[in-house]
Amino acid sequence: MPRPVCVNCRREMRCSKTGRVLELVSAERPYQLWSGDEWKCPVCEARVIAGYGQAAMVEGFDEDRYAKMKEYEENEKNVVSIVV
Ligand SMILES: [Zn+2]
Repeated sequence: MPRPVCVNCRREMRCSKTGRVLELVSAERPYQLWSGDEWKCPVCEARVIAGYGQAAMVEGFDEDRYAKMKEYEENEKNVVSIVV
């Protein structure tokens, strides 16, 4: 399977971190935490998160577990939050 590609540089990206966490926020509420890999372009250093597992690590309705997992990952400076 091809690696993620930087369109601007036309180069394959390199995995720079495994277990990078993406938080999806919907209607101002935590929705899901996903674990993926962070990839970086060797030329321009653009970074993306890709290669997620089959399911979210935790869902927002599971409030206690969600809060604990998010707190741990935030302490590791490992969370990227986006609004969907
Ligand atoms: Zn690039």
